[in-house]
Amino acid sequence: MAESNTLACDVAIVGGGISGMIAGLVAAQAGKKVRIYEKSPEERYICNSRITSGIFHICNEDIRRDPAELEQLILTVTEGCADPQLAKAVATDIMRVIRWMQDAGIRFMAGPFQHHAFMLSPPTLTPQGRSWEGRGGDVMLRTFEAALIKLGGVLHRGHKVEQLTRDNQRVVGFSGTTAQGSTFAVNARCVILADGGFQANPAITRGPISPAPDRLLQRNARTGMGDGLTMAQAAGAAITDLRGFYGHLQSRDAIANDKLWPYPWLDFVAGAGIVVTAQGKRFTDEARGGVSVANATAELPDPGATFVVGDQRIWEERGTYYLQAPNPRLVDGGGTFLQAGSLAELAAKTGIDAATLIAEVDAYNRAVAAKTTATLVPKRSTSPLAPFPIVSAPFFAIPMVAGITYTMGGIHIDANARALDVSGTPIPGLYAVGCSTGGLEGGASCGYVGGLVKSSVTGLRAGEHIVTALA
Ligand SMILES: Cc1cc2nc3c(=O)[nH]c(=O)nc-3n(C[C@H](O)[C@H](O)[C@H](O)COP(=O)(O)OP(=O)(O)OC[C@H]3O[C@@H](n4cnc5c(N)ncnc54)[C@H](O)[C@@H]3O)c2cc1C
Repeated sequence: MAESNTLACDVAIVGGGISGMIAGLVAAQAGKKVRIYEKSPEERYICNSRITSGIFHICNEDIRRDPAELEQLILTVTEGCADPQLAKAVATDIMRVIRWMQDAGIRFMAGPFQHHAFMLSPPTLTPQGRSWEGRGGDVMLRTFEAALIKLGGVLHRGHKVEQLTRDNQRVVGFSGTTAQGSTFAVNARCVILADGGFQANPAITRGPISPAPDRLLQRNARTGMGDGLTMAQAAGAAITDLRGFYGHLQSRDAIANDKLWPYPWLDFVAGAGIVVTAQGKRFTDEARGGVSVANATAELPDPGATFVVGDQRIWEERGTYYLQAPNPRLVDGGGTFLQAGSLAELAAKTGIDAATLIAEVDAYNRAVAAKTTATLVPKRSTSPLAPFPIVSAPFFAIPMVAGITYTMGGIHIDANARALDVSGTPIPGLYAVGCSTGGLEGGASCGYVGGLVKSSVTGLRAGEHIVTALA
C-alpha cells in the first residue's frame, strides 16, 4: 500500500459523469490544468450519465420556452422549495449549455414528445428496446473525455476519492484509494464534487427517503453512494433537506429482471387507476404522477409490497402511453400481470383481502362518477392525471415497487455551484455540481426539474466561475 506521489493541478474533480466532465472541460478550455478522478476502473465506467435516456427538459417541458416561464415553472412544480437563484440559473442557462455542448461535438435529436426537443443522439430508446453502448450518454462522455485529453486534462480511472484536504478553511485537494489498493493524493486550487448523489447508499437513504431502502428498486447505475455529501459535510458544508428522489413506478419483478427497468414505467396506469398496499388500501394521490407516487411508496413500511389496480380500458388507453409502454412490454419482458374477470378473483391472485379491495374500488368508482374524488381519503385529484373508473373486466393488478434514479437533496450550493457553509458563506476552494447538490428540486410533491439540466448547468457554472476566480 505505497503512497503515490501527490499530484498538483488547478482543478481536481470527483466523478466523471456529465456534471464533472462539463465543469472540467470548461476549465480546460480556458487553459486550466484539470484532473478528473473516477472511482470505476472500467473504460466505459457505468454511471447515471452513461445510461441516461438523454432527454434535456425542464419539469417535462420544452427547454426552448421563455426562461422567465421556465423559472416560474420550477418554483411552481417544487411548491416554492427551489432556491430562486438556482431556478433562475437553470432556466436562463440551459440553452447556453446546449449550444456549448454542440460546439464540443455533442449531437442532439428530437424525440416523440414536446419536451423531447433536445435528446442525446443516437437515442438509447428505440422501438426495439433500450441499450446504452455507442448511444446517447456513452457517446457524450467519450466525446468529453477526448476533448479534455486533447487540452492536457487527465481522467484517472479506478481512483476513489475518500477525503478532502484542507488548509484552515480552504479546500486544497483530496486523497483516496486506487482500484489496485494504493493511496493517492492531489493538491488543487479548486475541488469540484460531482459524484452523482446518494441513492445507492441505504445508510443515508434510510430515513429521509425510506424506512426500508433495501426494498426499493435501484433504477440507476448504483454508483451514487453520497461520498461527496459526506466529505462536504465533514468540511463544514450545509446540506439541504435530503427527502425526495427522482424515480418511477416499476414492476416489482424489475428487482430481479433487468428487462423491466428503467422501462416500462407504471406511472400512467397508476395515474388512471389506483395504487394500493398489500392490505388493499389506497395510500396516496395517484394523480400527482409517478415521481410523487414513487416517493409516497418509498415512505411506506414496505415499499416493495404495493399493487397498481385497473381495468381493461385503463390497460388499453393508458397502458400503451409513453416510451416503452407497459402494454405490451411488461408481459413481453416477463413481468407479472395478474388479470381476472372479477375483483374478488383478482384479490385472490394478489393475496389482498377481497372485501377490502372491493370496498376500496367501489368507493373510488362512486367518487369518480360523482366527481367527488377530492373527498376520498387520501384525496384523489383530477389533474394532471385524470382518474378512470375501474369497471370493465378483465381487471388487472401489477405488483409494483418504487424505483429510485437519483436523490434530489444534497450539498447546498449557490448559483455558481460554490458549496456553502451553514451560514450561507462559500467554502473557499470547494464546488459541487450535478446530483451531488440539493436546493433545486423537491417540495411536498417531490417536484422533478430534470437531472440532466441540473447537472449540465451547475457543471457549466462551476467551470466558468473557477476560470474567473483563478484568473
Ligand atoms: C436510466 C436513467 C435514465 C435517465 N434519463 C434521464 C433523462 O432522460 N433526462 C434527465 O434529465 N435525466 C435523466 N436521468 C438522470 C441523469 O442521467 C442524471 O441526473 C445525471 O446523469 C447525473 O449526472 P452526475 O454527473 O451528477 O452523476 P453521474 O453520472 O452519476 O456521475 C457521477 C460519477 O461519480 C463517480 N463517483 C462516485 N463516487 C466517487 C468517488 N468517491 N470517487 C470518485 N468517483 C466517484 C461515479 O462512479 C460516477 O461515474 C436518467 C438516469 C437514469 C439512471
